[in-house]
Amino acid sequence: MRDTWVELGRHPLARELFKKVGLKTPPQLLRAYKPWSDELLRGKRILMNKGGFFEVPLKQGLESHRAQVDRPNPESGEAGLPLAPVAAYQGSLFDATGLETVESLHQMFSFFQTQLRKMGFNHRIVIIVADVARSASPTRRAVSRAAEGFMRSLAKELGPKGVQVNAVKVRPERAQDEVLRALVTYLLSDFCSFVTGQLFTLHAAAASPMPALAGSLAGKRALVTGAAQGIGYAISRRLAEEGAHVLCLDLPQNEAPLAELARSIDGEVLTIDLASADSAALLAEKLQSGGMPLDILVHNAGITRDRSLFAMQARQWDSVLQVNLEAPLRVSLELLHRGLIAPFGRIIAMSSIVGLAGNYGQSNYSAAKAGLIGMVESLAEQVASQGICVNAVAPGFIETPMTAHLPFMAKQFARRLSSLQQGGLPDDVAEMVCFLASPYAQGLNGSVIRVCGGNFLGA
Ligand code: NAD
Repeated sequence: MRDTWVELGRHPLARELFKKVGLKTPPQLLRAYKPWSDELLRGKRILMNKGGFFEVPLKQGLESHRAQVDRPNPESGEAGLPLAPVAAYQGSLFDATGLETVESLHQMFSFFQTQLRKMGFNHRIVIIVADVARSASPTRRAVSRAAEGFMRSLAKELGPKGVQVNAVKVRPERAQDEVLRALVTYLLSDFCSFVTGQLFTLHAAAASPMPALAGSLAGKRALVTGAAQGIGYAISRRLAEEGAHVLCLDLPQNEAPLAELARSIDGEVLTIDLASADSAALLAEKLQSGGMPLDILVHNAGITRDRSLFAMQARQWDSVLQVNLEAPLRVSLELLHRGLIAPFGRIIAMSSIVGLAGNYGQSNYSAAKAGLIGMVESLAEQVASQGICVNAVAPGFIETPMTAHLPFMAKQFARRLSSLQQGGLPDDVAEMVCFLASPYAQGLNGSVIRVCGGNFLGA
């Protein structure tokens, strides 16, 4: 499943032709397509402002991943002109935690405005905003929220160049240094793709010293539901690529493609219909007989039965709620109850931007996907003491069999109205799931991470 418009845009001749008739082709997004290394930013030159609370640890973190980090030329004053021509940079990092007045926001304006005209395609931008308590001064909180708003607009303005702009919200405390630099390094790398306009809120300090990202999933036991095709298939492959042992679960009628996948990644097959009332108990028994708890549980299986509420039949409501919400709830609770999720394990639920924003004809799906966010928020608190992190991923329009059957115009609309003007690939979601399963994401718990290319739906 591919977006023909993006595919055609790969060919210079087609691009030229489109230009002649006044059509713009969506940007070709840079994607890493390789296993993680300890040099995520090798070959990248990154421009970073001066003066934020995290200036020193961030610079060290990026350099440890082999980035060349420059600050603006000291002689350029507030204009913040880079040392090298703007086109030489592949990333920009602005630590806004030092900004305390409305006037000081001008530094952020200058830092980015001086770069914009010459900024290259696929540039990555990260803005660090201070997590300011409601009880703090209204000015400080206003300035922090202003930086968030700025990030969202910048993501929309730069999306047509494939530039991805995200923000990380963090309490200015030394205990956050490690989790922050791990996340920022990842967001500036080419591994993170189709993610823009997002605010990542860091909740917890590092539970333990941060291990290396490369190899961190080796030997981990992972279960992926809905693995036979689409996003679940890509997640299984990506987890296996990082060295995890993957249990691939899908419906009994999908045993053939599932077995093919499991064979290719040296994984295992589990055929269970998650809609059945005894699916959680059945799964728990199978896992218990294997004798080892899971390190990573990915609730990916999902279905749509779209109808306006007026025309929706009860079975369409029930089946979507059963598969998309009740099954993840039952499975999570059962496995946690039986101690089948290992300490420091990860639970990742596949929500949707429709769960955040709603959509015509999807009241059942929207209820289920929003319900998953509720599940994640509650579980995250309950299991935090065991070091388990629970997060949701909310994809936008992703090119899979699920979206392939949508009407032509609906597909075009969903693709073109994202900031990046295209749909995402299953690999984009798979990569984010793998990251959330890694120790580098240990500062995220109870979060909803959108992989949507800055879709027009939602906040
Ligand atoms: P898909 O239809 O291509 O694959 C879903 C898989 O889940 C299939 O292999 C299917 O057999 C399996 N499944 C369905 N019901 C099951 C059941 N009762 N028991 C076991 N397995 C079952 O879908 P996809 O596009 O890959 O979506 C994967 C997840 O991502 C879903 O939860 C979906 O809601 C979510 N999502 C997808 C998009 C998108 O644009 N594709 C956007 C947002 C969210």
